[in-house]
Amino acid sequence: MSRDPSHDILFEPVRIGPVTAPNRFYQVPHCTGMGWMRPRTLAAMRGVKAEGGWGVVCTEYNSIHPTSDDLPHPSASLWDMSDVRAHTLMTEAVHAHGSLAGAELWYGGARTPNMMTRLPPMDLGSVPNLAGHPYQTRAMDKSDIRQFRHWHKRAALRARDAGFDIVYVYATHGYLISNFLNPRINTRGDEYGGSLENRVRLVRELIADTKDAVGDRCAVAVRFSADEEGGSDGHPVWGERRDMFAMLAELPDLWDINIADYSLEMGVSRFVKEGALEPYMTWVKSVTTKPVVTVGRFTSPDTMAAQVRRGIVDFIGAARPSIADPFLPRKIEEGRLSAIRECIGCNICYSGDSLGVPIRCTQNPTMGEEWRRGWHPERIAPQGSAAHVLIVGAGPAGLEAARALGARGYRVTLAEATRDLGGRVLREAGLPGLREYIRVRDYREQALRDMPNVEIFRESRLTAQDVLDVGADHVAIATGAQWRKDVFDGEVFQSVAEGAADAHILTPDDIMAGRLPDGPTVVYDGDGYYMGGVLAERLRMAGLEVTLATPDDSLSRWAGNTAERWRVRRHLQGLGVRFEPAREIAGFDGRAVVLPCAYGGAELTVAASHLVMVSARRPEDGLYHDLCAMAGPLPFTLTRIGDCEAPAIIAAAVHAGHRYAQELDAPVDPDLPLKHDRIDVGAPGGAA
Ligand code: ADP
Ligand code: SF4
Repeated sequence: MSRDPSHDILFEPVRIGPVTAPNRFYQVPHCTGMGWMRPRTLAAMRGVKAEGGWGVVCTEYNSIHPTSDDLPHPSASLWDMSDVRAHTLMTEAVHAHGSLAGAELWYGGARTPNMMTRLPPMDLGSVPNLAGHPYQTRAMDKSDIRQFRHWHKRAALRARDAGFDIVYVYATHGYLISNFLNPRINTRGDEYGGSLENRVRLVRELIADTKDAVGDRCAVAVRFSADEEGGSDGHPVWGERRDMFAMLAELPDLWDINIADYSLEMGVSRFVKEGALEPYMTWVKSVTTKPVVTVGRFTSPDTMAAQVRRGIVDFIGAARPSIADPFLPRKIEEGRLSAIRECIGCNICYSGDSLGVPIRCTQNPTMGEEWRRGWHPERIAPQGSAAHVLIVGAGPAGLEAARALGARGYRVTLAEATRDLGGRVLREAGLPGLREYIRVRDYREQALRDMPNVEIFRESRLTAQDVLDVGADHVAIATGAQWRKDVFDGEVFQSVAEGAADAHILTPDDIMAGRLPDGPTVVYDGDGYYMGGVLAERLRMAGLEVTLATPDDSLSRWAGNTAERWRVRRHLQGLGVRFEPAREIAGFDGRAVVLPCAYGGAELTVAASHLVMVSARRPEDGLYHDLCAMAGPLPFTLTRIGDCEAPAIIAAAVHAGHRYAQELDAPVDPDLPLKHDRIDVGAPGGAA
């Protein structure tokens, strides 16, 4: 196959100051939850992206000095020679494939509490920490600004010494430098505040400092917001941004443009669709001759090529599409468009940084596993035997196991009880806003179509005897899980039905199967992720009166980790859903739900004809146990995977299916199943 000529434009080299990118695919800086703590894991992951064709591959945010420390969110750092050595692992991995490596220099200001380094953070004034920690900043005086410029310059030099080709001045996302630009925040009376010219001064100086330090070898990029705070989705408030931009337009070698609202810029697909930044970008290219990059969760090469052709951007920026498919550029280059693993916009990748754990991806189970498990997004070891593998259940776990085993060359039989494949993603993709989740199935179903060694049996609900009759050498049970009607009180599951007819207590599985309530409904969300809010929306759209209650202090608590909680609340509020946070559930008699306060116990009674319990799931492991209970040794290995083993998020099911496929005939050491990326203190008594 060869590429579509209309995509040729994406493969043109582009000059950026003193360096040249081999094509227009640009992995913008994105967090990984690894930062300075896991350099080997990080370098291998970024290297795979370069191998996959990303012409520029950037770091995450790099702290330039210990007064900018974001732990428990793991940033990278450029403080000393140890950082230079760690980053060199990445730049070498990226250069090995002919790509450019970019380093984003960062200073958090009022967004960082510095809880690790215990040094006072600095910002324009002494203001409360913007991430909600009980720490305030120290107000910067002129000598602090001089000091800051010095740190920034030294970090730029270290970036150059580590082999980076592009060095960033990071002037957006509410971090220190962007606060200098902000007219509401920056009311300083000196030459760094007040007038537009004065507020822009620091960025202008940092560009000059960085060029002066490394400009002979490295390009200098500025990350900048195209709009002011405010406005609604797709309706930018430009304010003085255009004037500000015009003052700086020709100074850097590249502009990396994003927008003020982070929850739109990297919005979940539930609320934000592909290319959402375009309305914000309309004037940018007309004001500068320098190359421009922006993001938009682009997965369609037609959209990408059109963006370049229409003069919106010079580079196709991506964080998430490059995470879901590190080989996206190569696939476009080779005309293998149906092989693209499209991002579903769930932001599980971002939750790594929120939670301080290495990045994961729903679509790409190899993300973050390149070094410690040796997994690769496109290559997998050939089969270790001529075995026949039966997989029961075609949800995300079963589909991924079948796909990866098929890629290894095994003879695979995939049996699914229903006509359509997809399991939970098929069901969930029918809920409001979750349509893109079906890509988890579509990518795998498409891949299986091209594998003659994989046979799919639909409408085949297998019993233990059926499994025996297949005569496989290995059997994986991927039969998923079902939502429960009771509630987990921290110790045991408790029934909430107080004489209510069974039909009046529903679960997400009922709603997804179209069994809807017909009167006022309480959705009780003990799960805390997206399902409770999505069901409340579904029922409200059906015209019902809906109360969403949860034991947590906030709605969709865990969705804070995927940067969507605020939007969930605003959206449901707009739909007229009633909220009851911090509520336990005491019972439901078919007419009212009793909701005691999670703190004091004071009871609230909400009249409702139906209760939807979103609490926990019961593994659908009956088939597995039936097989375990069969007399005599089984003539195959038996393994349960995915939600049937331990219910969790979709990303965990995909990963479980992939791990099963990777480890078949290649068993790992159960005592140490993965390599441990950590700072090595050397052998006892030995040199460092
Ligand atoms: P996971 O997230 O672990 O992949 P899912 O719940 O998404 O789990 O998918 C499980 C799939 O297994 C569903 O599509 C379901 O129809 C199917 N299934 C359950 N029991 C059987 C069975 N006995 N035989 C075949 N398929 C089954
Ligand atoms: Fe896309 Fe979700 Fe993967 Fe992130 S985790 S890259 S949002 S599919």
